[in-house]
Amino acid sequence: MSIAPKKSLGQHFLTDNNMIMKIAGSISRADGGRVVEIGPGTGAITQVLFKRFPDLEVIEIDQRAVQLLKEQFLGLIIHQQDILKTSWNEFLDENSGKISVIGNLPYYITSPILFSVLDNRSLFHEAVFMMQKEVAERLVAKPGSKTYGILSVQTQLLSEPELLFNVSRHVFNPKPNVESAVVKLRFKNPAPDANPSQLKLVIRTAFNQRRKTLSNALKGILNDKVPDLVQKETIIRDFNLSRRAETLLPEEFVTLTNAIFSGH
Ligand code: SAM
Repeated sequence: MSIAPKKSLGQHFLTDNNMIMKIAGSISRADGGRVVEIGPGTGAITQVLFKRFPDLEVIEIDQRAVQLLKEQFLGLIIHQQDILKTSWNEFLDENSGKISVIGNLPYYITSPILFSVLDNRSLFHEAVFMMQKEVAERLVAKPGSKTYGILSVQTQLLSEPELLFNVSRHVFNPKPNVESAVVKLRFKNPAPDANPSQLKLVIRTAFNQRRKTLSNALKGILNDKVPDLVQKETIIRDFNLSRRAETLLPEEFVTLTNAIFSGH
């Protein structure tokens, strides 16, 4: 059974059974936790997941796909809704364990989905996402590399990302223009010890002008938040802000944020 893929919904359906098994086999469930699939489409990954997890829940926006899933998988819990308007608390109750989430993501909303999971990290056991290879590489990039940026720092502070494997564009219908990769995010590391919005501000401002030294890129924030000249010079010296953003370790952004906002 099939439906005509809609470009506007990022529909690229998996056609290769080995790859489907490999992806579906990559997710584990926490004790008493739910397993949730984002964007099941016509059920390629769902069929394998539903056998492993009979209480699987799926979130799909396309009414045509929902109809197919209902006919195909008796008892599957289907939420016909927009993932970006979904509250993760829907999948938790007092007694349930943490959520495991999996999906061959609609690529036009990879970043907002990622951030909605990262921002709610305490609710999750793990996440397995297929995404554009280029985005996957950014998530795991190390300082000093060209691809190291906002997405790398935030993802690595809020989770432990691992690039599991690459996926050729030839295993989809229709074929996407880009190569893909599957990434697993684990959430065992402690949350960063800084105010989340202050941390976000420092990371974003630092990378928005990544060619500049940090003392230049962060000039506005430093002047605004650290009016005391001696204190400002100390921060610039201690953190060696003549460097560029791409050389700072994720944890250094946390200590730098706390130094800048210590009086606030
Ligand atoms: N899981 C299927 C597979 O691997 O063959 C389909 C994956 S396809 C790349 C992405 C799926 O996400 C599509 O079924 C699409 O309808 C669904 N989708 C797109 N935007 C969505 C949204 N905002 N909320 C929920 N699902 C969405």
